[in-house]
Amino acid sequence: MQKKDELYRGKAKTVFYTDDPQLLILEFRNDTSAFDGEKIEQLDRKGEVNNKFNHFIMNHLEQAGVKTQVNALVSDTESLVKKLDMIPVECVVRNVAAGSLCRRLGVEEGMTLNPPTFEFFLKNDALHDPMINDYHIISFGWATEAQITQMKALTFKVNAVLTELFDQGDMILVDYKLEFGVDAEGNIVLGDEFTPDGCRLWDKTTRNKMDKDRFRQGLGSVVETYIEVASRLGLAL
Ligand code: ADP
Ligand code: UDP
Repeated sequence: MQKKDELYRGKAKTVFYTDDPQLLILEFRNDTSAFDGEKIEQLDRKGEVNNKFNHFIMNHLEQAGVKTQVNALVSDTESLVKKLDMIPVECVVRNVAAGSLCRRLGVEEGMTLNPPTFEFFLKNDALHDPMINDYHIISFGWATEAQITQMKALTFKVNAVLTELFDQGDMILVDYKLEFGVDAEGNIVLGDEFTPDGCRLWDKTTRNKMDKDRFRQGLGSVVETYIEVASRLGLAL
């Protein structure tokens, strides 16, 4: 597999073409950003940890019947993935109130949400990823009604699978963000990443934060804690 030209450089990853038009390389960098790129730092080993963590989770989801981009790990910081036509919306499921939900609705952090709630956000840093609804997505042609139905069903399926996985490691999956794309056959496929950068995980007993809130809130030991999360899932990094 040959790495070709850069396709896109995002805040945390760089995407490269390969000699296979159906496959891309995702390079996970050490760059860590928060608040729409306002706070940016380089965290030693974060690219490697997230690359391997993401590969582990995508494989786990694939085995549970969720179609993902996963193909192969190609280096410590790079993965080969299926090339997708990304849908520019973020799908968020919340099991426990935290983050922007608390700021928007004035609810207390830590409230259990039963049933879990679902939100769409538009992927647009300049507009600070505004919350949108199904009608916006259809009116502006970002996805069809059928694709919306599939994204919601898949995001909740991921919730069932990963809530159980993290529970086995004594962690609560508080919330997370997924991005989907369309593959060459027209299937909705999970793309981008699932790492502690894009979800909230709390220790079940102490409720200590084990995700990117450690970076957002300056709590320290960010990458060390991601490694602890992986280790609790049986992944040595
Ligand atoms: P951002 O764009 O939010 O700064 P990243 O630094 O993570 O985020 O950049 C990765 C980019 O690659 C994102 O725009 C994402 O939508 C895109 N991407 C992720 N997975 C795939 C894929 N399988 N096929 C095509 N594009 C992808
Ligand atoms: N999230 C993300 N990327 C974004 C926005 C949110 O990965 O651009 C994740 C975030 O880490 C959390 C969940 O989605 O796990 C919900 O985020 P929220 O809306 O609470 O926003 P935040 O307060 O984290 O900015």
